[in-house]
Amino acid sequence: MIYDCLIIGAGAAGLYCASDLLSKSNLKIAIMDSNHQAGKKLLLTGAGRCNFTNSQIDPDNYSSDDPEKLRDILSSYDCNSFLSFAERELGVVADNRDELYYPRTYRANTFVNALVNYLNDHHVTFIFDTAAEDLTSDDGVYVVNGRFRARTVVIATGGMSYPKTGSTGSVIPLIQAVADIKYTVFQPSLVPLTTAEKDAHKISGAKVKCALTLYDHDHSRVLSQSSGELLFTDYGISGICVLDISGHAVRYMAETGKEPVVSADLMPADTHDINCLIIKFPARRIIDSLNGLIRDDLLNIILKRSGVNRDTLCSAVTREQGDRICRNMKDFRFTVTGNKGFDHAQVSSGGICLSSLDEDLRVKGTNGIFICGEALNVDGICGGYNLQFAWSSADRAAGGVLKCLN
Ligand SMILES: Cc1cc2nc3c(=O)[nH]c(=O)nc-3n(C[C@H](O)[C@H](O)[C@H](O)COP(=O)(O)OP(=O)(O)OC[C@H]3O[C@@H](n4cnc5c(N)ncnc54)[C@H](O)[C@@H]3O)c2cc1C
Repeated sequence: MIYDCLIIGAGAAGLYCASDLLSKSNLKIAIMDSNHQAGKKLLLTGAGRCNFTNSQIDPDNYSSDDPEKLRDILSSYDCNSFLSFAERELGVVADNRDELYYPRTYRANTFVNALVNYLNDHHVTFIFDTAAEDLTSDDGVYVVNGRFRARTVVIATGGMSYPKTGSTGSVIPLIQAVADIKYTVFQPSLVPLTTAEKDAHKISGAKVKCALTLYDHDHSRVLSQSSGELLFTDYGISGICVLDISGHAVRYMAETGKEPVVSADLMPADTHDINCLIIKFPARRIIDSLNGLIRDDLLNIILKRSGVNRDTLCSAVTREQGDRICRNMKDFRFTVTGNKGFDHAQVSSGGICLSSLDEDLRVKGTNGIFICGEALNVDGICGGYNLQFAWSSADRAAGGVLKCLN
């Protein structure tokens, strides 16, 4: 048997690529996965609710080696293209919370089942419990593991995040055997960060709204910014705003070997003049006059970092001490020492460079090998960005397969 297309990886990108192909053709398609089931990681997305796209996708919120190609891929198959496919072909209706879109059931398994049912209806062959270990070409046909033969191959093996779901970075050795490609080493992204300051570890579990700026090690260059709720942990910091800057921190450390600095503005929208508040309540302890602004446990740390005893009466706090307290509230610093690794990373940065692929996401120098999804050197922030890239890149690769076979 020679398949028209063999898709390696039954994750978000692989399942979607097959569905997209079958909505436009009746090709013979097989999907191979090392797991026993399809969509293992997809089931975990959005805390089991699957935040599958975002109506305000901004290409600038992704990192990649070719922003122009990325912009083109995202704009030619966007949130609306995905939502209408999901409803029309898969029967999955979406619901939204602001710009974030989910299946109306708010259950990821609804969506995975819909994809698998669609593929079964279209007679796709699933080859489970089989890892692709070897890709060769033989007389115009691609051969995987010496026995699965196909006219085209789509590699959708993901990156290296949550390796228990099956993504182990296998795209690189697979493709290197047949083509000369450029790639960037996979690194954890959307990952909690470990930090040096032990005082902040002690308030593990505390959450605070803030604006974050990630600086280089000597605080001279801004690497990234975000805002939202920061979660203190016993090893460092987490929360969506931290995940969103984490890829930049991890890459900076890998490139320079230096520790970047996160500065949290704990009162981003607050114009309170701390010195005015201190003067207003001269007979109060400083801790009591400021705890309407910031939670006690965090305020304790700020006062210690500012060299002011929490029991000092406001009347005894100097202007200079007041300024120091204010600075520590507006610029509460963490030194990033590392990250929690692939086991805790929602995505990986790095992968096969877009520049090694043509417009159809075909590997340059090959007739029919395509790559889509997280295996590519593209990663986005939280909020449906990464799944939207899986859909957009899968659609682009599917278009390439159809052109190639015609
Ligand atoms: C906990 C968590 C929550 C997330 N939440 C969201 C969210 O709400 N919204 C969002 O946009 N993104 C989210 N993401 C990110 C999103 O899940 C990924 O970006 C997306 O799943 C990538 O799709 P993919 O198909 O490229 O890779 P994957 O989904 O990782 O699929 C790759 C598949 O390839 C298989 N495979 C790998 N190597 C081989 C091989 N050699 N042979 C055969 N099979 C192989 C794997 O078993 C796997 O099934 C989340 C990620 C995690 C971990």
